[in-house]
Amino acid sequence: MRAQERQLAAVRLGMAVVGALLLAFVVPELPGRTALLVVVALIAAWSLLVPWLLGRFPSREVGIVSTVVDMAAVTVAVYVAADAVDMYLFYGLVILATALRFGLGASLWSSLVMSGMYAAVVIVGGTGDDARLDLLPVRVGYLVGFGVVAGLFSRIVIGRATDNARLRQQVAEEEHEREQIREREQLSRLGRDFGASLDRRATLHAVARGAAPLLGGATVVFVVDDAERRLVPEAAAGPDVELVNAWQKHANARQPRFAEGLIGSVAATAAARHATEVATGDPDGMRELGMDWLLAVPILAGGRLLGVLATAGRGDRPLNERIGHLAEAVAERAGPALQNAQLWSDLQDRMARERAAQRIKDDFLSIVSHELRTPLTSIQGYSQLLEGRLRGLSGETKEMAHLRVIRSQVGRMRRLVDDLLDVSRIDRRGGVSIEPIDFDLAEELRETVSRVAREHTDRRIEVAAAGSMPVHADRDRIDQVLTNLIENAIKYSPDGGPITVSAERRGGEVEVRVADTGIGIPAEHRENVFERFYQADDDAGRRRFGGLGLGLYISRAIVDAHGGRIWVAANSDAPTGSVFGFRIPRVAMPLAPAEIAPTGEPPPFVLRRHDG
Ligand code: ADP
Repeated sequence: MRAQERQLAAVRLGMAVVGALLLAFVVPELPGRTALLVVVALIAAWSLLVPWLLGRFPSREVGIVSTVVDMAAVTVAVYVAADAVDMYLFYGLVILATALRFGLGASLWSSLVMSGMYAAVVIVGGTGDDARLDLLPVRVGYLVGFGVVAGLFSRIVIGRATDNARLRQQVAEEEHEREQIREREQLSRLGRDFGASLDRRATLHAVARGAAPLLGGATVVFVVDDAERRLVPEAAAGPDVELVNAWQKHANARQPRFAEGLIGSVAATAAARHATEVATGDPDGMRELGMDWLLAVPILAGGRLLGVLATAGRGDRPLNERIGHLAEAVAERAGPALQNAQLWSDLQDRMARERAAQRIKDDFLSIVSHELRTPLTSIQGYSQLLEGRLRGLSGETKEMAHLRVIRSQVGRMRRLVDDLLDVSRIDRRGGVSIEPIDFDLAEELRETVSRVAREHTDRRIEVAAAGSMPVHADRDRIDQVLTNLIENAIKYSPDGGPITVSAERRGGEVEVRVADTGIGIPAEHRENVFERFYQADDDAGRRRFGGLGLGLYISRAIVDAHGGRIWVAANSDAPTGSVFGFRIPRVAMPLAPAEIAPTGEPPPFVLRRHDG
């Protein structure tokens, strides 16, 4: 509207100039010429005033006043140049301008008003020249008709122009929207790409590669070196390969300190900055690398500075607002991804250190157990020899009783050492390995019970098992579990209560139970008794019964290796006491225990031992 009003003013000024020239040179004898020149001068002045008015008032109001001025000017001209019969035609121009400004309705109204004004001038200012009076109806008809035609014309032209303008705006809006969607998609894809790997280096490269097509000719990701307070370039990419390589080399050599140059000051203030001028000393290498501009944004996560994303351009890649906005969006997504990668690598390091420490401990345990076993075997062997000799020399003596005590204590120590060895094997290999054979579980049960009973002649152990119960399992290992459960039942029934051992078939499985009426286990501790080194304390918090807390841990590993299950419950048939039970499949398939520590290279402990 404003532009249109300006154009109309220019046309009006042009016509005024042409009118003035005509009056001056073509029709110098026209009556009322001076008055007409004044009108033309006023029209020209008004036209010159319009731009100024448009700067201060709404263009619609300026347009209305302009129309009135035009009407008045033409009316005056028609009145003054009464002899110039075609002067009324100028009304046509005013009507056309009105139609262009305000459309069909206004065009019609203006044609009616102007017909009235023309009629008034002709009738009032009549000079007896009846030709004009005669022609009045035709001319009025002409003006009204012109109003209709101009209005319709403007409706078509303006309508088209408006439609076009609307269409253009719509297209522009759609394009803008598409651009925004593309940008959002790109950024969300970047977010996904950045988080695709937990490896720190891979993440840094993903950031540089993902950001490069959106930003300047070259993009470098700097990472904070906290100890040195420097920024180390870790990844670079960009369409300007030459700049990428040169910049990477420069940044590697320079490694900006905090607050040094643009990149260093972004790190120091954690705020984005850009430069198009080279700073004194060229700390960022802008002149050296021929950069036209340099932009840097901080990479933050949880309020902590992790690095700086820097991008630069030269030649046909000018810096614009969009690049700044995109760089910030990229850095926003890079922060959490880098933090995750950092945490993951810290965790990996810690786990590796812990695994190494664990391996040293396991190796130590294994070596100590082995070393202890040899002297124990000798002591056991020699005490047995001595016992035999003494029996041959003097029959049953006090010394022989002492030797038996030595032997039983050494046996106990051997069992403890064997348990330690088992635990170290379980820890190193992730479980127990079994070698299943066919045997009769009922028979095995009876044998184990009678063996244990021989050592505890004062205890009553009852067995309830079917005549035969063939199974395919590791006989020695199952014996180990049985012995452990029965020995525990004896140990934890200090008042000497009875112990019941039973076995029965349950579908494709066999179930063994060992029940005692001893001290029992508080419900809240039952879950823990199968843990390594676990021992339930007595009321005073002192250990009353001895032991290492390994038997049940090993028993569970053995039952697990058979694909079975071990559990403990309160003995519901007695006021106190526990029932330990396990179930294994009648045909057990050996499960290969997962190797925890990779074999092949000697464990660190052994290495040190050789060194010493
Ligand atoms: P240890 O007997 O050498 O301490 P175990 O692994 O065999 O180790 O048992 C772990 C703990 O479980 C024991 O210290 C004891 O507190 C508890 N426990 C095991 N068997 C019984 C039982 N029959 N009655 C009561 N407590 C038991």
